[in-house]
Amino acid sequence: MIEQIAANLYKIEIPLPDMVLQFVNSYIIKAKNRNLIIDTGMDNEEGRQAMHKSLEKLGVDLERTDLFITHFHMDHFGLAPTLISDNSTIYFNKTESAGIDWVRSGNFLQELTDSGRMSGFPEDELQEALTFRPVHDHWWRKPLPFTFLADGDRLEAGEYRFQCVATPGHSRGHMCLYEPDKKIFISGDHLLNEITPSILSRYDAANPLEEYLLSLDRVYELDIKLVLPGHKGSFRNCKERIRELKDHHRQRSNEIISILKECSQNAYQVASQMTWNIDCDSWGSFPAMQKFFATGEAIAHLKYLEGKGMIKKETREKKIVYSRI
Ligand SMILES: [Zn+2]
Repeated sequence: MIEQIAANLYKIEIPLPDMVLQFVNSYIIKAKNRNLIIDTGMDNEEGRQAMHKSLEKLGVDLERTDLFITHFHMDHFGLAPTLISDNSTIYFNKTESAGIDWVRSGNFLQELTDSGRMSGFPEDELQEALTFRPVHDHWWRKPLPFTFLADGDRLEAGEYRFQCVATPGHSRGHMCLYEPDKKIFISGDHLLNEITPSILSRYDAANPLEEYLLSLDRVYELDIKLVLPGHKGSFRNCKERIRELKDHHRQRSNEIISILKECSQNAYQVASQMTWNIDCDSWGSFPAMQKFFATGEAIAHLKYLEGKGMIKKETREKKIVYSRI
């Protein structure tokens, strides 16, 4: 489905088969010189067809088109390598490019396995959860024409003059685009309506929830009239949505503090007692992959609370456990 958002700015919904999210939003800016595609969808048959049909309807010539990708997750980046022509650029950033290198290197499965074990994940469930593989691994093996942009850099497309806004949290190098004259904010998965962007962590040095909350504060300062997110509908109440998201994470943190009331626990145990908005009766009936994501969210909160000095961690029998101070 194509929706015109503003002059020469269109939204295309690209289907995500078998995913709860159903669609990713791709934004197209048509311009006399070079068009811009912002985020792309996954590299599968349904995604490819939806994208190419829409580009055809809009009369977008890929020979005169560049791409901007908010972050390296496959639902946003996946189709990018299939859309570039010999003279296209993919505007991206170094941190996210390193994320692709990480997946490409194969280290990520070992690191996720190590992290899962440290979080207390039962071995059989962990193996089931990590059957996941990048579906278009083959594309990620070829060199891609990246032009790296950093926070504050400008990107022009037709009548749109964007500023890059670094918004780490959902992913380490997540980047949004802000159009200060038109007060439009292209938010990727940093700000979503109806659903909460997932903030996941594994056991490394990063503190993604801390970064995410700081990113929310930065975006709160911007004068934004329209948010164009990576999933679900556009929205205008940006500041209110940011307050809701911060409130959500505050409640989550409080929930975890109360879960840790009785005794010290690992992240898997904490996750099993948190409230999840998923269509399952109990933790036991969660699919292994969902348990893995849930535990990743628990780790993000636990690391955040530890950073704030509210809980402490220790290692017991190669597992990391947390307790209240
Ligand atoms: Zn996404």
